[in-house]
Amino acid sequence: MKRRLKVFKKEMSFNSCDDTIFGLLDGYLISISDSDGLCSLFVDIALKEPIELDRERIRNILEENARQYSILRAEVTATGVMVYFESSRSGFERLKEFCFFFAGQLKTLNIPGAETCSNCHKPITDISIISQNGMMHTCDKECAEIICKTEQKKAKRGRDKEPVRFFAGTTGSFLAAILAVVPFVAVAYLDIFYLWLGVITAFLVKAGYSIFGGRPSAGKGIVITLFTVLSVVVSMFLSYSVGVYNGFLNDGYVVDLIESAKLTFDIIISNNDVLMSFLTETGAAVLYSLLGLLLSIKFKKKKRKTVFVVS
Ligand SMILES: [Zn+2]
Repeated sequence: MKRRLKVFKKEMSFNSCDDTIFGLLDGYLISISDSDGLCSLFVDIALKEPIELDRERIRNILEENARQYSILRAEVTATGVMVYFESSRSGFERLKEFCFFFAGQLKTLNIPGAETCSNCHKPITDISIISQNGMMHTCDKECAEIICKTEQKKAKRGRDKEPVRFFAGTTGSFLAAILAVVPFVAVAYLDIFYLWLGVITAFLVKAGYSIFGGRPSAGKGIVITLFTVLSVVVSMFLSYSVGVYNGFLNDGYVVDLIESAKLTFDIIISNNDVLMSFLTETGAAVLYSLLGLLLSIKFKKKKRKTVFVVS
């Protein structure tokens, strides 16, 4: 959140939700955000039918003062007024001046504000603030609960309609698992500390699933974990093989990679010390990859809900 927004929030004792600050001003709930090259002011109103006359009056105020407050754009609907300013220090100053002026004007016009439910237009007894796509509205508690339930159902229906594409996702994960072997073995070849590369493998395999259109499903976690672990084990084995291959090369022998892979396998299973070190290192790399999976879940971008009750 920008500093100027934070300062204004504190000045006005407003609340915030994501990057939007909101609070009551002169009987109107206003929400302000400042990002994407624009700062916006949203004023929650609840126009009663017929709305045209009130709308016209509000539009006139906006038009008459557009130049003075450097308003870039404004929209008036039955449930709110959205006004855009430039996202700059002076733009934000104008927004601040304008919101005080505008709330006073709306009051003069008797436009219903925070005390009227945005949903049923009745006076509010138990106030709730709902956020709809970053715009805040006041509702009574009952209406807020109804709106949230409807939106949740809509969202769920939308999710259910989308195909899972499990096979596509699995293919994506598989290809990513193969791809992930390349950087792993390359870094191992350079003999830099490479066990942590399991983390990258995990992120790649997970990304592969989504890139190929795979949607979350019961099998997703299993597929991703399985391919990640397999990819890491294969990477470790190939890293050992490259080591063996290099050993031959340094001694002046020429062998091919498949031959050295076979030899590596024989060495690993016949020599206890090598077997132990292979298992320990592979175990560590697998642990790193599982850590990577955990991290990728943690850093998952929070999906913004369309509607939720703020207070
Ligand atoms: Zn209501």
